[in-house]
Amino acid sequence: MSSSDEEGEEYLFKIVIIGDSAVGKSNLLSRYARNEFNPHSKATIGVEFQTQSLEIDGKEVKAQIWDTAGQERFRAVTSAYYRGAFGALLVYDISRKTTFESIPRWLDELKTHSDTTVARMLVGNKCDLENIRDVSVEEGKALAESEGLFFMETSALDSTNVKTAFDMVIREIYNNVS
Ligand code: GDP
Ligand code: MG
Repeated sequence: MSSSDEEGEEYLFKIVIIGDSAVGKSNLLSRYARNEFNPHSKATIGVEFQTQSLEIDGKEVKAQIWDTAGQERFRAVTSAYYRGAFGALLVYDISRKTTFESIPRWLDELKTHSDTTVARMLVGNKCDLENIRDVSVEEGKALAESEGLFFMETSALDSTNVKTAFDMVIREIYNNVS
């Protein structure tokens, strides 16, 4: 997915965000791409993806980050959504165990639909909700280790690790292809 011109190389990577409904996928993306948080967000309307640029090794690397339009509620995320993805964030909500228990199913779906090496990060979102935590950091780490995923806990609400998580996936993709 790279192209050369006189300016040097350019990269454009597709990244998908998956996970159960209401884990904070849309807010992670809006926090990363626009530094915005929406406390009342319902099912995502509209935006298919947002593009973010990052400079790595003096090269401009662009990530096209896709968000679902709420299809996950009906387990109807289509193969078109996954097509061409080089990276994925698998998101659960640390305050709802069921969303963590769904991760293996999302991993299977990702494997089924991807035809290349995908840089994958397990993301335990809403780490600001420590008082009602339902999934321990250790559980998250253990799953990530057994599946060979990066792991990070984030908060789209207070911004903890959001940029770090996305940037890490983008760098990993860059390392995979360059
Ligand atoms: P999606 O369905 O996975 O896209 O989830 P949304 O981004 O729409 O978020 C679902 C709900 O969780 C909304 O009410 C958000 O305001 C809330 N939310 C999202 N991220 C966080 C977070 O990091 N912390 C807290 N406390 N709430 C969050
Ligand atoms: Mg959404």
